[in-house]
Amino acid sequence: MNYLVTGAAGFIGFHVAARLCAAGHQVVGLDNLNHYYDVNLKRARLARLLALPGFHFVEQDLCNLPAINSLFAEGRFDRVIHLAAQGGVRHSLEQPFAYSESNITGMLSVLEGGRHHGVGHLVYASSSSVYGLEGSLPSRADAPAGHPVSLYAASKRAGELMAHSYSHLYAIPTTGLRFFTVYGPWGRPDMALFKFVRAALADEPIDLYNQGELARDFTYIDDIVEGVLRIAEQPPEGCPNWRGEADASPAPYRLYNIGHGEPVRLEAFVEAIEQALGRPVRRRLLPMQPGDVAATWADSAPLLATTGYRPQTGVREGVKAFVDWYLAYYRV
Ligand code: NAD
Repeated sequence: MNYLVTGAAGFIGFHVAARLCAAGHQVVGLDNLNHYYDVNLKRARLARLLALPGFHFVEQDLCNLPAINSLFAEGRFDRVIHLAAQGGVRHSLEQPFAYSESNITGMLSVLEGGRHHGVGHLVYASSSSVYGLEGSLPSRADAPAGHPVSLYAASKRAGELMAHSYSHLYAIPTTGLRFFTVYGPWGRPDMALFKFVRAALADEPIDLYNQGELARDFTYIDDIVEGVLRIAEQPPEGCPNWRGEADASPAPYRLYNIGHGEPVRLEAFVEAIEQALGRPVRRRLLPMQPGDVAATWADSAPLLATTGYRPQTGVREGVKAFVDWYLAYYRV
């Protein structure tokens, strides 16, 4: 099949594109290689992808609407996996317009591509952050929407709402995937695991917000990739379109969580790092950060029901894989 993977030089996009190429698909990877974090890491991921058969790279910004329109016109994509975005809850307090550009205009540009040139299935990344502070745990994707407490979360929720309206109006099959704290080899330098390991190796303390009283449904990258690919293979069907005609012209729209399905206390996560590094880590306890939530926990039952897949990798194994990659990549 013909795939477009946006954000292909990013953490998750890199792994998704690599798996697709290994399975024999044709993959166009798009990325603007921005400098939000170490661009050399993005280039190193990209170099690996460029060595794979079936991979073609397009350096482009999603906000360049004519270029994205031409890409869709030429690409005739069977599947689009839209992962490009401006990430980071805390950064969204400092650089708000990066979020309206990449996450809202960028999402719209992908939806417009699908509208004008067709796409068999648009799968896009959303986030556990859309649940905000309310609601019971585990979070269910079919529960009434929460209220995002950061601009990042609001922009991801906006993406879901735009996908819904385009599915409804133009019968584009879309599936939104709410990822829960993804970690693993080739991970992001702005995320906790990367920062903790870097600090620990420099013998600096790690910062634990909310006095360390946080819990996250940490999800290993291979579990995310498996969920994304299984979902991508199964476009939704059978929802009513804007005329309410269930069968004539379906307007398919779905949302799933992809999370390991178990909240892990930050302390247990740090212990897994200590075990993987074979040394103790100093902690610095700090207050809760604005925009953050105390706990996340995915209800992954619908993902299991649709795809037969249940995320499998626990934190000890996953953190060890990250640490092994980190030590090798940075030649520590
Ligand atoms: P990432 O930052 O590593 O990858 C995103 C990539 O998109 C980057 O390489 C960046 O250069 C590119 N990009 C950003 N804006 C762009 C634009 N306007 N045009 C073209 N390219 C652009 O992030 P990631 O962790 O791989 O996240 C992938 C997706 O998953 C994002 O949508 C993110 O919001 C979502 N998500 C990630 C996590 C996580 O824990 N990593 C959790 C929830 C949701």
